[in-house]
Amino acid sequence: MNIDTMLAHGGRDPGKYHGMVNPPVCRTSTVIFDSVASYEASRKEKFSSLRYGRHGTFTAFELQDLVAQLEGGYRSVVVPSGLAAISASLSAFTSTGDHILVPDSVYGPTRDFCDNVLKKNGVEVTYYRSDIGAGITELFCRDTKVVYCESPGSLTIDMQDVPVIARAAHNRGIVVIADNTWATPYFFKPFENGIDVSIHAATKYIVGHSDVMAGMITTDTEHWLQLRNTIASYGYCVSADDCYLALRGLRTLGVRLKQHFTSALDIGRWLARHPEVSRVLYPALESDPGHELWKRDMTGACGLLSIELKPCPKTSVDRFINSLRLFGIGSSWGGYESLVLPVHPEKYRTVTPLEYEGPLVRLHIGLEDADDLRTDLEQALEMIERK
Ligand SMILES: *Cc1c(COP(=O)(O)O)cnc(C)c1O
Repeated sequence: MNIDTMLAHGGRDPGKYHGMVNPPVCRTSTVIFDSVASYEASRKEKFSSLRYGRHGTFTAFELQDLVAQLEGGYRSVVVPSGLAAISASLSAFTSTGDHILVPDSVYGPTRDFCDNVLKKNGVEVTYYRSDIGAGITELFCRDTKVVYCESPGSLTIDMQDVPVIARAAHNRGIVVIADNTWATPYFFKPFENGIDVSIHAATKYIVGHSDVMAGMITTDTEHWLQLRNTIASYGYCVSADDCYLALRGLRTLGVRLKQHFTSALDIGRWLARHPEVSRVLYPALESDPGHELWKRDMTGACGLLSIELKPCPKTSVDRFINSLRLFGIGSSWGGYESLVLPVHPEKYRTVTPLEYEGPLVRLHIGLEDADDLRTDLEQALEMIERK
């Protein structure tokens, strides 16, 4: 089955819900059983039967089933945010005395979790350059338990050679955990590329409408119970209403992502030629250093890119951003609307020398008309005064 068909037919079962096209929003804490025997039987199927609200209801189960199918994994679990998915996954596969490897271009709050929580709990964290490839083996030590990937990385959108890193890790029995939020299940197949535990900030494209916080974690069979038991111990659960919205968002993931990709590529190409722009960080562009890896491993790109402006003072960058009318100034991305933020990767890098001469601005290209977005960018770029 192709992914567009899965998006339309997965995660629902009219036969099970009196013919209703969509699964119901099942709000409940308590589930009542008709006998002690059936109550006890429900405990045996730990994470797939309806037994208590915290472990999920049918709405969560359908969402989880669809995401596992899209990812090509064994099973998925929904958690309250993308960051919760990251912290729970890293906690599930590490303990005191372990060592983990994390890319230097990792999402900022992931780095904060490593530095503030994992290190405090006695886990040693080494950051590696995102272009390390097979060189990762030189950083392995006896206690290395996890290699974490995020490809492409946050703010600088730099690609990693995930299959090569995963192969090296598996040769040493190391677990590979990856944040695949940018590529989405639509453009990247984590398990075919060697990832054991795949994370999505569902808040972004899975939900797709900027109205729910959620995270998803999918694993292969080998890593499922260790992950799922940890989630259960933390008590993470997501309301049926939010699961419903995520499931509803997924129905249009394909059509949305195709449009984000077309518009972002179009605008990215135009920006790359603009006199106020030094470069565009977007691996779908031939000029991007990660283009070959992107072409090999992914089937498309989302709407998130960064641009390096020609050197200019902060007042000019602020004027450019403030002049945009269709791009909202705000955190997150992956919704239908365009967004913009000034970004400062130098605050979060410890091993990669950054060679940007001008300021970086991150754009999320939404589902508005691409010509309207370009016109808006054009008038705002005119507000920049170099010197
Ligand atoms: C936004 C984001 C997250 C965190 O997701 P939340 O739902 O905001 O917690 C994690 N990883 C990446 C790459 C993100 O962009």
